[in-house]
Amino acid sequence: MTGSKILVLGGGFGGVQAAIEARASLDASHEVTIVDRNRVPHLCGMNPLLIVGERDTDKAGRSLGRLANRGISYVEGNIDSIDTSGQKVVTSVGTLDYDYLVIALGAAYDWDAVPGASDAYSFYDFDYARHLRRRLSRIKRGRIVIAAAKPPYKCPPAPLETAMIINWWARKKGIRKDIDISVYIPEPGPLGVAGKEASMRVRAALDRRGIELVTAAGVTEVSPNGREASFANGSSTIADIIATIPVHKIPDTVAASDVANGKPWVPVNRETLETTTANVFAIGDVNVVPSGDFAIPKAGVFAAGQGVKVGEIIASRINGSAEPEPYDGLGFCFMAYSGGRSATVGGEFLAEGGPDTVLTEPTVSGMKSKERFERDWRSFKI
Ligand SMILES: Cc1cc2nc3c(=O)[nH]c(=O)nc-3n(C[C@H](O)[C@H](O)[C@H](O)COP(=O)(O)OP(=O)(O)OC[C@H]3O[C@@H](n4cnc5c(N)ncnc54)[C@H](O)[C@@H]3O)c2cc1C
Repeated sequence: MTGSKILVLGGGFGGVQAAIEARASLDASHEVTIVDRNRVPHLCGMNPLLIVGERDTDKAGRSLGRLANRGISYVEGNIDSIDTSGQKVVTSVGTLDYDYLVIALGAAYDWDAVPGASDAYSFYDFDYARHLRRRLSRIKRGRIVIAAAKPPYKCPPAPLETAMIINWWARKKGIRKDIDISVYIPEPGPLGVAGKEASMRVRAALDRRGIELVTAAGVTEVSPNGREASFANGSSTIADIIATIPVHKIPDTVAASDVANGKPWVPVNRETLETTTANVFAIGDVNVVPSGDFAIPKAGVFAAGQGVKVGEIIASRINGSAEPEPYDGLGFCFMAYSGGRSATVGGEFLAEGGPDTVLTEPTVSGMKSKERFERDWRSFKI
């Protein structure tokens, strides 16, 4: 009997864990392949510390080619189209067929949605983060604005965390009294997804550090010289550095396929993460899994957890073993308050009775755990 073909689209947090988990439970007759156009993805979670020089740019990536050691084939190429009725995927390096498909293509950025944003600063991808790092290394005084456009965006704590890290770094450099830091967010309050109490505590933490927080103020435009930002509440502000969090959207290839059904993000069965097509799964930032008044946050820990679950499900179907427990929506993100202390925020997002989440205090051991997480990511443990 010939083996099954498991095709994983995207080698980020979700895709890698789906491939590793499926591979670990299947014999060698089955093929597990990952396709990604980017051979060396970077860990975005390092960017808030990377922009202030607290992480090395040459230690922020991992090569998908190393997955060959684990019996997983890596194909470097662009995914052009997904045909679920014909069970094939067209890529820039050829057409691949499959028996099981995992779509883990993440969220794309719509830089055009906020005029001027693409020419301003950001820390939402590696190249932008490196550019901002160079700019910050030269600043001695002035105003820094971090401005998110609209939800959902990856890692909701990231704008708040980044403001606190810049505060810590500016103090360390002795320039804090000459630097103003403001965060503009589109939501009515910070970290709403983690509940009211966590939201109030983050507000207080920003306040104590002299960081201005402006809510219900998504950025709508940045002037061509990158020095003035306008917001959805009608206000505008001038700054020396404006760093935006871009509008997130479903990748075009996924939008054009029939798995999206015209929705903004791929709807999935919340227990199995399967799309409306059998044996086609969508995991991580590309999907939407409702959780109370919100959805499971777009974060690597959830993408990785969903990858593990889908890997288990595929292996159980191929091996004819019992279907695994339903997906539980469990996950914690780190939220650094400085280069030395990190909190965690998260919990069980699919708990009966609604999301059960908690924000811990920032601690030195929290930062040690964050550093371990970064090492684990580089060695494909997460
Ligand atoms: C500043 C910042 C801080 C963050 N901090 C944290 C944190 O502390 N903790 C946390 O858990 N998460 C954090 N995140 C979020 C985390 O990075 C994402 O949620 C996570 O990467 C999503 O995983 P994914 O597998 O769904 O998609 P991704 O990791 O985005 O992977 C998608 C992959 O698909 C590939 N791809 C896309 N389209 C195509 C195509 N057409 N052809 C070929 N390849 C394609 C891409 O190259 C990419 O490698 C942070 C994000 C940012 C920006």
